Amino acid sequence: MIDEARVRAAVRELLVGLGEDPSRDGLVETPRRVAEMYVELLEGADQDPGEHLRVSFEAGHDEMVLVRDIPFTSLCEHHLVPFTGWAHVAYVPGAEGRITGLSKMARLVEGFARRLQVQERMTTQIVEAIEREMAPRGSLVVIEAEHFCMSMRGVKKSGVTTVTSAVRGVLHEDSGYRAEVLSFIRPRGGR
Ligand code: ZN
Repeated sequence: MIDEARVRAAVRELLVGLGEDPSRDGLVETPRRVAEMYVELLEGADQDPGEHLRVSFEAGHDEMVLVRDIPFTSLCEHHLVPFTGWAHVAYVPGAEGRITGLSKMARLVEGFARRLQVQERMTTQIVEAIEREMAPRGSLVVIEAEHFCMSMRGVKKSGVTTVTSAVRGVLHEDSGYRAEVLSFIRPRGGR
């Protein structure tokens, strides 16, 4: 749980450390605004996003389902600035052919984005939640994101994206099947 009073005090102290006067006009409400922003950005921290997948439907569908271009914004835990991009989530249903609602995948991504994150861990957490909750024959997650801690500092040019993937089950073992799924994912590139 976020201790908003403590965040407000810390932001005030940060402003002092940055050589600012936290009582000047433009900054006087900043600690409160920042604290409220963190409450919103980190609301997934004490949630289990996998629960969105617990409602599934018998569809007799045993081929790939791909939900692509799910936009998200998360917060890099190394720098406390955003990384933002798209997640592509695919799975091959298990033996019972049960599928989940398409919007549930977006909720799953959102839940893992709304916490202090690193892109690699977010990718793994999403694929593992799908494995745990849906027991699919295979699953695949690709995330492409721009990291502001890189792009806004000029370490790398803006528009550079980092791509991570995690693959399980039949999509891991069968490279032809994996290639087919990947062929439906268009690289988005930078924003
Ligand atoms: Zn960073």
